Amino acid sequence: MVRTAFIIIFALLIATLLVCGFVSWRSQKSIGRVVCLLCLSHIPPVLGNMIIVGAVSAHEALIGCYIYYIGMDLVVLNLVRFTNEYCRTKNGKDILRSWISILIAADMIQLLLNMFFGHAFRINEITSYGKPYYIMTPLWGQNIHRIICYGAILCVMMVFLVRSIKVPRLYKERYIVILVSLILVTIWETFYIFSKTPIDRSMIGLAVLGILIFHFSIYYRPLRLLDRMLADIVSDTKVAVLLYGPEGRCIWVNEPARELTLMRQEDAEKVSTALTDLFGQINELPENKEVEYIKGTGENEKTYLVARGSFYDNYGKVIGSYARVRDISAEKHRIEKEMFDANHDALTGVYNKEYTYKKISDQLKQHALGDYYVASINICDFKMFNDAFGREFGDAALKQVADWLRKYSDENCIYGRITGDTFGSCLPKRMFIQDIVEDDLKHFQVSLGDTQQHLVIHIGFCDIEHDDEDVSVLFDRAFLALDSIRDDYKKHVAFFDKKIRDKMLWNQEISGQLESAIAQNQIVPYLQPIADKNGKIVGAEALARWIHPIHGFMSPGDFIPLFEDNGMIVDLDRHIWRSACKILADWEKKYPELFISVNVSPKDFYTIDVLSEIMSMVVEYGIEPKYLRIEVTETSMMRDTEDKMKVLEEFRKLGFIVEMDDFGSGYSSLNMLKDMPVDVLKIDMKFLGKSNDENKANIIVKNVIRLAEDLGITPLTEGVETVGQYDKLNQMGCVLFQGYYFSKPLPLAEYEALLEEKR
Ligand code: C2E
Ligand code: CA
Ligand code: CA
Repeated sequence: MVRTAFIIIFALLIATLLVCGFVSWRSQKSIGRVVCLLCLSHIPPVLGNMIIVGAVSAHEALIGCYIYYIGMDLVVLNLVRFTNEYCRTKNGKDILRSWISILIAADMIQLLLNMFFGHAFRINEITSYGKPYYIMTPLWGQNIHRIICYGAILCVMMVFLVRSIKVPRLYKERYIVILVSLILVTIWETFYIFSKTPIDRSMIGLAVLGILIFHFSIYYRPLRLLDRMLADIVSDTKVAVLLYGPEGRCIWVNEPARELTLMRQEDAEKVSTALTDLFGQINELPENKEVEYIKGTGENEKTYLVARGSFYDNYGKVIGSYARVRDISAEKHRIEKEMFDANHDALTGVYNKEYTYKKISDQLKQHALGDYYVASINICDFKMFNDAFGREFGDAALKQVADWLRKYSDENCIYGRITGDTFGSCLPKRMFIQDIVEDDLKHFQVSLGDTQQHLVIHIGFCDIEHDDEDVSVLFDRAFLALDSIRDDYKKHVAFFDKKIRDKMLWNQEISGQLESAIAQNQIVPYLQPIADKNGKIVGAEALARWIHPIHGFMSPGDFIPLFEDNGMIVDLDRHIWRSACKILADWEKKYPELFISVNVSPKDFYTIDVLSEIMSMVVEYGIEPKYLRIEVTETSMMRDTEDKMKVLEEFRKLGFIVEMDDFGSGYSSLNMLKDMPVDVLKIDMKFLGKSNDENKANIIVKNVIRLAEDLGITPLTEGVETVGQYDKLNQMGCVLFQGYYFSKPLPLAEYEALLEEKR
């Protein structure tokens, strides 16, 4: 009866182990194969024992014995392999070395040799439970087997022990269960060895160990671990989370939820009630949809996104729900700040150009017609101001102008920074009271630290005439108004009126005609004679004149400033240079000693390569460079001085004579002169002409002439109108003379006639 019972139990265990082996083999886990072999290796010892228990002859029992012993070695061998796999550390190396496996293999051979030497065990027959049973009697060879197996199992236990100590608490379970089972089975097995009972019940433990290992390595998902991890994730988020049971009672809240509701207690129900106080009945919100709530005002304003949702089981029954509150205030502030930065000028905090234009354009679409002005506000000579007082002071000036605009504006005004030193505004007409603004601007002071400086501000206004007007056109008009008082430091306000409009139209007309005027030779150089100490004409300056088919004779004053402004001066200058070259080529035979000076505008240097253009003309007309003199003004040298000086140096190297025009009208003349690569200094008499104290003027001219001579530069005075001036300048040592005293600028034919007459 006992025998049969155990045979059945063993058979069931074998069947279970087979199933475990099969399942592990099929499992996706990398450890699956090792576990499969381990499960299967548990079968032979159980099977061996089953045979021993059921044996009817000593021979049968002996076969059972061999199966049992070899099976035990296989168990230990696979346990070692499993341990290596199961307890593998990050670096992936085997923990238990291969020599353990070699020892076990040697043990198997040693045990099999028992067939020949009978040194390890033998079978004895005993009577138990009233029946004959076979038991094995260990001999000395058995000790080798025990030492190797117990040694290996001890190593395995040590590995499990160390792992279970080292790993975080949540994982300990995985190792401790196997360790404890291993210890129990080992004790049980040892107990059997000494008990001399005919049936090895510890085989049950051995099989159960296999099944346990299978469970823990293949099936066991540490649920508690997952729970903890998920809970940690939820606790760690900044999102407030509240979980509700199926009946709607709050069962869990995380830390942010407590912080949000200012509830310090653990009681989830209270936190939930406080949340309802804040946001109302959250369970009435639509499911899985974030709803925005704004709480508090001003600095303390907070924006929350609140959502709720439910959990369902496999049958669609609600098993719980959650509420989630996300504080997006910081994110919202960030976006608002980015929007602000994109639309505002960083320095002054007012709108930037694009946004000002957009806002004004929106305003125009509404009702600006007739009731609003567009204004352009400019700081006079801002560049000079910046240079003189430093960038920091310049920045302070811009900020204070922006503040001034803020002060004068209300919510109906739009204002912003349009360019470096220009602001723009669109304001209701009633907001502008001219006297107040004029008076305010008269005393506009910029202060930074202890320094205070007066700032000249000009404002140009224009009316809005149509409601579909382009903002940039309006600003152009306002700027033209402003530009009309550019040099007037007493006036601060100007309107785009008929005069300015007419001038604008004139400029447009003239600019549009330049190209054809050049092509049709309406623009010609007039030549003004230049004389030497004896009054003999030695050359001429080419000065542009426009003989206009409708407007008649036009002096440079009518068109040159405009073209200098809009950059078209380059076309005009090229035309005059070429005309001068033509004349010189023509003169080669007639008047080979005469030169012509041509003007080079400051703008030319920026737009074209003056040197190569002029040089190619000289080559084209086959004239010697020294007969084409180059006049540059001080102002053209003011910016990028070094680069320009190089250009002038090149001109001189090529044989041109370079003249410094209008000397004395700029503001750093003397300082510049010492480094300037020029041959002739043209001193403008006009700037001395109006001087009250003629004596002082004379002293200045005399010394400038002396200075030029000392520097090896030829002095030339222009604007010489009387014989008295001529004589005096002659005495002072001046070398060349130009002015109405000799002649006003003349058309080519008249100039040549004058030459003939003088001869
Ligand atoms: P600028 O180069 O200083 O030319 C001398 C100006 O003084 C000329 O005026 C000339 O007519 C005037 N002038 C000559 N003698 C006397 C005098 O005795 N008394 C007085 N009061 N004035 C005298 P204009 O021809 O009207 O030219 C004015 C300015 O226009 C020139 O000043 C020059 O800066 C510019 N300009 C003329 N033609 C050209 C040109 O082809 N290209 C460029 N870029 N500028 C030119
Ligand atoms: Ca000139
Ligand atoms: Ca001049």
